[in-house]
This record gives sequence, C-alpha cells and structure tokens, in this order.
Amino acid sequence: MKIDKYIKNYIGGQLVDPIPNEYLDNVNPATGEVYSFIPDSDEQDVAMAVEAAATAFPAWSQSSIEARFKILNRVADLIYQNLDVLAMAESADNGKPVNLARKVDIPRAEANFRFFATAVKHFASESHHMREGAINYTLRLPIGVVGCISPWNLPLYLLSWKIAPALAVGNCVVAKPSEVTPMTAYLLSKICIDAGLPEGVLNIVHGLGGKAGDAIVAHPKVKAVSFTGGTQTGKMIATKAAPHFKKLSLEMGGKNPTLIFDDCDFEETVKQVTRSAFSNQGQICLCGSRIYIQKGIYEAFKEAFIEKARLMQVGDPQDPHTQLGAIVSKDHHDKIRGYIQLAEEEGGTILYGGRVPEVNKRCKDGYFLEPTIIEGLPLQCRTNQEEIFGPVVTIQPFEDEQEALALANGTEYGLACSLWTSNLTRAHRLGQQLEFGIVWINCWMLRDLRTPFGGMKNSGMGREGGWEALRFFTEPKNVCVKYGFDDGAS
Ligand code: NAD
Repeated sequence: MKIDKYIKNYIGGQLVDPIPNEYLDNVNPATGEVYSFIPDSDEQDVAMAVEAAATAFPAWSQSSIEARFKILNRVADLIYQNLDVLAMAESADNGKPVNLARKVDIPRAEANFRFFATAVKHFASESHHMREGAINYTLRLPIGVVGCISPWNLPLYLLSWKIAPALAVGNCVVAKPSEVTPMTAYLLSKICIDAGLPEGVLNIVHGLGGKAGDAIVAHPKVKAVSFTGGTQTGKMIATKAAPHFKKLSLEMGGKNPTLIFDDCDFEETVKQVTRSAFSNQGQICLCGSRIYIQKGIYEAFKEAFIEKARLMQVGDPQDPHTQLGAIVSKDHHDKIRGYIQLAEEEGGTILYGGRVPEVNKRCKDGYFLEPTIIEGLPLQCRTNQEEIFGPVVTIQPFEDEQEALALANGTEYGLACSLWTSNLTRAHRLGQQLEFGIVWINCWMLRDLRTPFGGMKNSGMGREGGWEALRFFTEPKNVCVKYGFDDGAS
C-alpha cells in the first residue's frame, strides 16, 4: 500500500476527487513540509456520500452477523498486515514517534475492529416478563446512516473506535477524519476496498470541520452523530443537531488531574505520572495536566519528576529513541507556547522546559517543544482551567484528601483522573467522589474496551465502548406480546 500525494474521498466504494476539485495542504509537522493534499470537500460530496450510505443500508443492515463479523475481521487483518506503512503515515501526519504509532495507535485500530466484530455476536437484548401474561422484548435495530467525526490526536485509533461499532450493528457510515491528520483514514479506505466491504457501507469524506463536518451534522438523512473533539466544537454540533432530534454522542476536552498521595509507590508513580503527562506530546485527551502532590513528598517528587522530564528525548519521530515527537501543527504549537507565556504572566514559575529544543537537520523546521513543568499557580487561573493539550503541566502541593478532592473537581471538565495511593479505603472513597467519567487508581490509560468510556460535565455526553457503543448505534424498540387471558387491568 502506498502513500499517495493526492488523498481521495471514499464514496460508494470508489476513491473519488472532491466535487469542487479543491485541495488543502497536508503538512508534516516534524519537517514543516507540505507532503500531500487533502480534498476540501463540501456539502455536495457529503450529499453523495449520504446517498451512497442510504442505498447500501437495506442490504448491510439485513446481512448476517456472521457476514459482518468476517468482513470487519478482514479489515483488522489488513490493518495488521499494513502496520508499518500505517504507523509511518500516522507519524508523518501527526508528528508522533513512529514507535508509538506502531505500539499503540495502529494495533488499537486493529483491536477496535476485532472487538466490535466479536461484541456484536454477544450483544443480547433485554426481555421483561409481565405477571399479566405478556412478554416484552427489546429489538435493537440499526439506525440507518450515521455520521462519525474524529480529531487529530489519535487519528486511526479514534476513527475506528466509532466506525467499527456503527458498522458491526448494521449501520452505514459517513465519516470525516480530522483535516489535520487524514492519511491513515485514506489508507483505511483502500483497506476496506481490498477487504471487500460492500460499496457505500462506509464512506469517508475529507475536509474542513466547518464545511464537510457541518454538512454531515446538518444532513437530514444522518440520524445520529458520534463526535470526538474539542468542547466548543461539541457545543456547535449539539446546537445544530438538537432541532432535528438527532442522536448524539459527544466526547470532548478535558483538564485532567493527577492526585499523588504521600503513601504512593514513589518510583512507579514518578514513572507513570511522567508518561501520563507527556505521552504523544501531551496530546491525549486523557493526559494528566494538573498534578497535585501531597505535602510530605512534594519536594522529593518534584525533583524526581523534573529529572525524568529532563531525560526525555525530544526530536525526530522516525528516530526509535524519540519519546516526544512534534506538536501536530504550527497553529497548535503557537497556541501551546501562548499558554506557557500566559502561565508566566499569571505568576507561574517554569521549573523545566518551555523552550523549542534543538533537533536534527531533517526536522529543523518542525514544531517541537520541550516537556514543560510549571509551579506556583492557583486553581482558578486560566492555565489551570483551560485545556492546553500539549506537553505542559502544572504542579501544586495539597494538605489532605479534602483539599485534593476540591482541587481535582475544580474545573468545568470531567473526563479522566488518576489517583496514586496505597490506601485502598481512600482510593475507593475518592473513586466515588471524583467527578470524572474515568478514574484510574495506581495506573493510567489501562484500557479495557468493554468499559464505558467518556466524560462528565463539559467533557462529554454519552459514553463509548463495549455495550454503550452498541446501544448508541442502535434504536431500541419494545415489542409487547400478550399470551394470557387476563386483560392486564387488575
Ligand atoms: P476539533 O473539535 O477542532 O475537531 C474535531 C473534529 O471535528 C475534526 O474532524 C473537525 O474537522 C471537526 N469539526 C470542527 N468543526 C466542526 C463543525 N462545526 N461541525 C462538524 N465537525 C466539525 O478538535 P481537534 O482539535 O481535532 O482535537 C482536539 C480536541 O479533541 C481536544 O479538545 C481533546 O481533548 C479532544 N479529544 C477528546 C477525546 C475524548 O475521548 N473525550 C479524545 C481525543 C480528543
């Protein structure tokens, strides 16, 4: 499979040019070079994709579960066989280390297809027996044409996390990957063709959010939208979809706290907290960016954490030793640097990082940034309230459990939290009181695809993963069958 210069839309089983014949630049953030071109699709392309999906729906929705299981596994097989090219493509688009894409992004995309292909085989619906002599059973029917819109930070991983369950239960999909990282979605189109996915079952339209994305949300035949991205975008999508009563799943931004207690396993916690702060250049929605450390170990932890950050290798994503690659785009690089400046204006002290590092010649025009640790900022400042989404964290001491809880819950976000302690009772107590969709205790990003995934407060509406995803992508219908002689009035 090769990486083409001109990406095409995947509509009705064909790779096609956008109707307006306009393209956007696709920049490799590690070098600053334009290396390919992305369809700048508009509502005409979306309309064509929706028609293709609607045409494919009757046959796909009535196909056997076994047939869907086989074809989705075939897609997974081909992802596995193309691991190297997909990992290189993900790295070239996103700036992440190739190694990370090889170990995390692409294997997870494969796992998403396998997981939901299998899950649908075990997806049972409820039944409710009535004493009056009747039985209710719930049919879970595919919805029809659904929209899947995904972000740039984990491109194929998050796109497949939506597409796989939607297809597994019998929907047809119009998907729009991020315009910042479109290449692996394009390669997935080729994989779907090779796997023999019937025409129109999956359609991938590339382009800008405000144009192609908006047209998907607005199209009257798109009955449900699954979105992952920023909270402001989620708000716009909700506003647009609400008057049409579309089903919505919104996975949005976060400002995740990390709570470190005096009694934690010190060495392991330093290691894992460094990972949770800076993986993927801090551009994982689950990264811990507000780090709270109990007073007794504050100074020792701070010193060890700075040392770990100092040892992290920042540079060429193709170098197998690189731990932090490039920031995804120039705009985002500027935004993160703006927040570092803001943190200083707000009175913060940069303990480590904050600068653009020296990198090798190939990457001299890329968008790199050192891992950055800031101290001395109160909870209410913008640096601690707004999502930065980069390799920038703040640290702050806390006295006791109550203070830790208030700090952790003190933003409008509620996606994920990690908690480090050897006190099991405290862990459970806090686990229940923390206002987050995901609470990790003595671990971070340990994922089981069967669990509900998503955020509370301004981080999310609905949940993905496991049965939650299969429920979202189906319409429940209750069928009540009376078989007794009682008329049920008593
Ligand atoms: P974004 O909101 O800018 O874009 C996400 C997607 O939405 C892109 O495909 C974009 O083109 C599209 N889009 C933009 N405007 C649109 C509109 N008006 N109508 C329809 N579609 C539109 O987000 P991003 O910058 O790509 O990603 C970073 C954000 O995603 C961060 O806030 C991060 O926390 C969040 N995120 C959340 C999760 C989660 O599971 N909660 C996971 C990953 C990323």
